[in-house]
Amino acid sequence: MPLPVEQQKVIQEAVKEHEHLVVDGMDISGHWNRMFGQRVIFDYDYANLEKVTSLPGGESLGWCYGCAKCTAVCPIDIVGDYSPRKIHRKTQMGIDLFTSDDLWLCTTCMNCLRVCPKEVNMIQIMPAVREQAVLAGNVPEELQKAFEDTAKYGNPLGQSQRKRAAWTKTAGVPVPIIKDLGRPVDVLWYVGSYPSYHPRGQDAARAAARIFNALGIDFAILGREEKDDADSQRLAGEIGLFEMMAEHNISVFEKYEWNVMVVTGPHEYNAFKNEYPKMGFERPILHYTQFLVQHLDKLKPLLKHEINRTVTFHDPCYLGRHNGEYDAPRELLRAIPGLKLVEMGRCRENGYCCGGGGGGMWLDSFTQNHTTMRLSERRVLEAVEYGAEVLSVCCPFEVSRFEDGAKSTGNDQLDVLDILELLDQSMNGG
Ligand code: SF4
Ligand code: SF4
Repeated sequence: MPLPVEQQKVIQEAVKEHEHLVVDGMDISGHWNRMFGQRVIFDYDYANLEKVTSLPGGESLGWCYGCAKCTAVCPIDIVGDYSPRKIHRKTQMGIDLFTSDDLWLCTTCMNCLRVCPKEVNMIQIMPAVREQAVLAGNVPEELQKAFEDTAKYGNPLGQSQRKRAAWTKTAGVPVPIIKDLGRPVDVLWYVGSYPSYHPRGQDAARAAARIFNALGIDFAILGREEKDDADSQRLAGEIGLFEMMAEHNISVFEKYEWNVMVVTGPHEYNAFKNEYPKMGFERPILHYTQFLVQHLDKLKPLLKHEINRTVTFHDPCYLGRHNGEYDAPRELLRAIPGLKLVEMGRCRENGYCCGGGGGGMWLDSFTQNHTTMRLSERRVLEAVEYGAEVLSVCCPFEVSRFEDGAKSTGNDQLDVLDILELLDQSMNGG
């Protein structure tokens, strides 16, 4: 793109003025003032960058000045070729992010934003551009299925809403449903889709139910009235679906009397704490680790069985970086007798991503064509490198992701356990 005529004139005037610059009797025209030499500057084509930056939420991609701090911490770059800087550069070079596979690789883990001096915000850029791709029907098939299942069944696993509380029958303790209870409760426990339906998620849900009972918590769940929080679908660009789920959930939350809501998953925690308030719902929300830490004095004497194993902990992006909670899970682990906690190199603020956020949970086959290994597999290798026998988690997305990663990398000896399961083992043996 040639410079505007007015600017060209200014340069020509400067050239004339400095044709012969004499400093201390020496004519230094030529080399010194080559910058004023007459030339036409051709700029790159802004069109594809401007397509992103003109979207509400997409503006900050234009602020990148190429320092590459983000590239050093992006979890995808460790197993592939990715970062906001690279996305910025590619759009400068004419790649259309709206139709590029790059659009679906970011897990919105937020590690880049943590270090970016210019606040280039992928947590806003990605949903904004993805929303346009969703509206244009340009969505990877497996993600589209998760969207459709969420809309049709109320959960991305495509399971019947009527069976949402079926897991409670095998918990071995009472798990009251608030509608049947017919009275206010202290704690409304939002179980979440994966703990309700996924077999390994159900293990954690049953463990939580036993812990709540042992602590004498006055709690209830929503049962079939509960639907997916849809925060990950929002981050994957299905904003209409998120609003639909949020409206349903908020109307159910407000139907009953309760003091605090406890959620099993960090994504739900993020949704209810940071997104649902934009739709008028603002109530006390705690992730289960935060809630149980408040009951540590009562919990500790119940942890009778030693767990003599080396355990590491994976910080979920949406509990840690997005919401600043790093200590509650560790305090719970340290309370378990016999357990030795080791930290991995990438932990806390710089924790690695399991690959499940921002829609990544439903994009594994797609992502695998763009990376040398899954993020979950890379994390499993790191846990093993640090000598862990158990990789502990507190996000329902992670158990199945890391168990698959342990199998596919030949590390079956690594157990993946929710902190709830470890607490339950310490309470009840086994
Ligand atoms: S850290 Fe920010 S400014 Fe630096 S290259 Fe990355 S996106 Fe650009
Ligand atoms: S949010 Fe995470 S995955 Fe996405 S570009 Fe930033 S560091 Fe990479």
